[in-house]
Amino acid sequence: MSTTTHAIAAPAPGAPLEQTTIQRRDLRPEDVLIDIAYAGICHSDIHQAQEDWGTAIFPMVPGHEIAGVVAAVGSNVTQYRVGDRVGVGCMVDSCGECEYCQAGTEQFCVKGNVQTYNGVGFDGENTYGGYSKQIVVKDAFVCRIPEGVELDVAAPLLCAGITTYSPLRQWGAGPGKKVAVVGLGGLGHMAVKLAVAMGAEVTVLSQSLKKQEDGKRLGATGYYATGDESTFDVLSGTFDLILNTVSAKLPIDSYLGLLRVGGAMVNVGAPGEPLSYNAFSLLAGNKTLAGSMIGGIAQTQEMLDFCAEHGIGAEIETISAEQVNTAYERVANSDVRYRFVIDTATIGS
Ligand code: NAP
Ligand code: ZN
Repeated sequence: MSTTTHAIAAPAPGAPLEQTTIQRRDLRPEDVLIDIAYAGICHSDIHQAQEDWGTAIFPMVPGHEIAGVVAAVGSNVTQYRVGDRVGVGCMVDSCGECEYCQAGTEQFCVKGNVQTYNGVGFDGENTYGGYSKQIVVKDAFVCRIPEGVELDVAAPLLCAGITTYSPLRQWGAGPGKKVAVVGLGGLGHMAVKLAVAMGAEVTVLSQSLKKQEDGKRLGATGYYATGDESTFDVLSGTFDLILNTVSAKLPIDSYLGLLRVGGAMVNVGAPGEPLSYNAFSLLAGNKTLAGSMIGGIAQTQEMLDFCAEHGIGAEIETISAEQVNTAYERVANSDVRYRFVIDTATIGS
């Protein structure tokens, strides 16, 4: 038993996305049915639709930045009611019992978290993401979108927001800390807003100075072009924390040179090809090179509440279903300011 909903899918690796219909399961006791209002386009959607990260499941309905309204709830759901404004990010299930789930880091579930799309549920069914009109999700993987944050600008918080909030918190972004954000795209622009709100002194390192005015408007006090070699001399030894949001391979050693002694560079960007570094780039200065993957559900709720408190939403360009393929090309060309969000009312019409 299931219901049919309209969606946008990639039929095969690298193929243009097209409109289709998919099935959503009938509600189980813990399930929430969500009428999706907006779905953000994350660069990870493009990586997976192109199989940059390896074999993927097709047809693929991407989308893990989901904002909408509760349309129905299962018999055991007490936290959510019809009409509530909610969001869903990159995960829709995990075992709930392992040490990582118990610690609120479901993304590291030893049984593997169930991805919102390009995943397989514990019931053996493929998962389909947010580029659709409705989704059914277990209540424990649904977050509440606070009043004051509109659904369209909230959608990207569910991935771009938490993916940058989590490492900024873990690595102590705050007053007295100099933070560099590499790449001013979907994740990068959220990182700037969040780090500024946390009280850090923020610098953007972008390929060029094209988006400098935007960077300053978002709260960055420094803005440098990495295409200009002198940037790496001028900023040598400057930062406590560098957050790398770039979707492509970067010369890591050059960036490690920008850290102060004891500083950390955290990669959230996920290019398909390996990154490399010279051991001495870390040794000389007791530096750390780290990674960070999304964030747990409790921290995602914390991030949403933080955004509401600080008046933070994503900077978006709203598109219709038929503009998705053009949006993919623009994201791939770093031509996004700063997140495309699909108005799901345009799907199936
Ligand atoms: P995006 O909107 O495309 O932003 C990436 C930015 O990186 C671009 O806007 C561009 O900024 C810069 N860039 C692109 N190509 C570059 C190149 N060849 N050299 C230098 N800079 C380049 O992508 P996104 O949605 O923010 O995602 C960024 C990456 O994070 C992707 O790889 C995605 O898969 C990954 N991701 C990881 C997680 C996680 O859990 N760790 C979660 C979500 C996404 P400038 O124009 O300013 O240079
Ligand atoms: Zn994402």
